[in-house]
Amino acid sequence: MKIEDCLADFQIPQHLHYMDSAATSLIPEPVINSMNEYDRQYRANVGRGMHRLTRVATQKYQDAHDIVSNFIGGMEGTTVFTRNTTEAINMVAAGLDWRPGDRIVTTVMEHHSNLLPWLRLRQKGVKVNILHPGLQGIFEVEAFDRAITADTKLVAISHVSNVLGTVQPIREIAAICKEHGAYLLVDGAQSVPHFSVDAQDMGCDFLCFSGHKMLGPTGTGVLWMKNEVISPFMVGGGTIEDVDIEGDTAEGYTLTAGYKRYEAGTPHISGAIGLAQAVKYLESLGIDAIFRHEEKLTRRLLSGLAGIDNVTVYGPQDTKNRIGVVSFTIDRIHPHEVAYLLDERAAILVRSGDHCCIPLMKYLGLENGTVRASLYLYNTLEEIDLLIEIIEEIARTA
Ligand code: PMP
Repeated sequence: MKIEDCLADFQIPQHLHYMDSAATSLIPEPVINSMNEYDRQYRANVGRGMHRLTRVATQKYQDAHDIVSNFIGGMEGTTVFTRNTTEAINMVAAGLDWRPGDRIVTTVMEHHSNLLPWLRLRQKGVKVNILHPGLQGIFEVEAFDRAITADTKLVAISHVSNVLGTVQPIREIAAICKEHGAYLLVDGAQSVPHFSVDAQDMGCDFLCFSGHKMLGPTGTGVLWMKNEVISPFMVGGGTIEDVDIEGDTAEGYTLTAGYKRYEAGTPHISGAIGLAQAVKYLESLGIDAIFRHEEKLTRRLLSGLAGIDNVTVYGPQDTKNRIGVVSFTIDRIHPHEVAYLLDERAAILVRSGDHCCIPLMKYLGLENGTVRASLYLYNTLEEIDLLIEIIEEIARTA
């Protein structure tokens, strides 16, 4: 299928111009249908029992894990379904065995979801080292080389910034982590939906991302891990190899291996099926074709904004090392006001504020935050031109 042909699959009212995909993406009809099909035709619990419906549902649920693993090149690791990126990151923070004096290296650019779980570990005597990028939002690999030491247990960094759209040099950072025996956690919330990401090739230990930002249903996310080195923060139904209350183990039970160990209780079954369908949808368009389409839109947007007085764009000014998450401000107008006007005047839907990145906003001196247009495969050049036109109009009358 061609990208231009997929617009009809997104049943948002046609006069709306949705440019808030970094928050959550739209969802295409085939994904909605796959979820409804489960509820209507073969609804049953998974991994429990032998009747015909549970067998079908269990197979689909298992297949969904394989489809998602395959999408991120992670068939050799463990792919756990979570509610979102935030839950995936918290599972790692809660599941590693922290000792006082352990060090975590992270950055000032992180989304709160990839920062607060680490800051909280300070209560356990864990030290958190926070690196600062250049003002364009790009890190020198040397900064990681200097910061990662023998006592660094984990490095946590987002692959792509949800404010500046910058892409970080994960492979190089992974090599440094390996040298020092540190785990590498990559927050892929803004990368996996937009370009080809291979968890194994990248060299990370954990990759976290959200299904709802990649055409999947809300309430879906993924934690991929290379090895099962974390203990599950919940146990219960579905996680068990054996329960022997009087047995030899301290707990009286033995957990099963694989993703089931980390997915206690009845999971979001239709969500998993919908996420797998979203992956199939992305694959049918081709993730590289999606990337090129977004690159074209981003180039047009950046060059259009560069020509408008009173507008400042943050992050790299060209499409090298960045994707279509574009933050900007207009002099003398609050970002919320700009977002409101874009909606009022042209039904363009963008996000404004701190984007859950208060430390980055403080670092950049942006007390009121930014306006953020975040693009995806269903956006068009015509919409970008409209966005530029209305921003120009707002900036002129400011
Ligand atoms: N990390 C990044 C980089 C994000 O952009 C987001 C979502 N804005 C998150 C984490 C959190 O994602 P979720 O709300 O799906 O947990």
